[in-house]
Amino acid sequence: LGETLQSLWKRNKALVDIAMTDALTGLFNRRGFLIVAQGLFSLAERRKENLAVFMIDIDHFKKINDKYGHPRGDTVLKSLAKSLKETVRKSDVMCRYGGEEFVILFPNILSPAVPLMAEKIRKEVEESRPAGIFTTISIGVTQGLVKNSSDNDFLSWVSKADKCLYKAKANGRNCVVLDC
Ligand code: GH3
Ligand code: MG
Ligand code: MG
Repeated sequence: LGETLQSLWKRNKALVDIAMTDALTGLFNRRGFLIVAQGLFSLAERRKENLAVFMIDIDHFKKINDKYGHPRGDTVLKSLAKSLKETVRKSDVMCRYGGEEFVILFPNILSPAVPLMAEKIRKEVEESRPAGIFTTISIGVTQGLVKNSSDNDFLSWVSKADKCLYKAKANGRNCVVLDC
């Protein structure tokens, strides 16, 4: 019985990993990210710590697929995810939120560091040529202290970042819009 339980536990753990991970990039998928991010969000509220959420979207990714093919597009996603991961801290949590969208949560980040971090990431992608293809991203950022109110949940922060991202696209892409 002990052995059976142990093997069931192992298989269950492997399934949980699969359910929370994006197969292409190895990052959290949206589900895994939200579980971790919501916990950190509550902690930030309790400790009155500043935090930031970045919503990142690849510019004109459809054109990249059209020009180089879908498999090459996949390689761009993989390589871009890797360089994002290398640019942020181990304690920052990131995910592939959807097709060519990534979200990063920066717990306990100082306000003045937020625009610098966003610009660093934008520039890093512009210079890194993931999979050998010139690629740019737009970033929407929301940051601040978590106010103690029930409607101020993590998903509303993600929506705010998304609204800023939309403005970054309208501003011509390859740019950052903060606290719009
Ligand atoms: P914008 O600058 O406005 O964001 O333009 P866009 O072309 O990036 O945006 P749009 O939403 O029109 O297209 C997103 C594209 O991303 C279309 C879709 O085929 C591609 N995509 C989504 N998921 C994947 C994926 O897993 N692999 C590849 N290769 N492409 C993907
Ligand atoms: Mg998109
Ligand atoms: Mg896009």
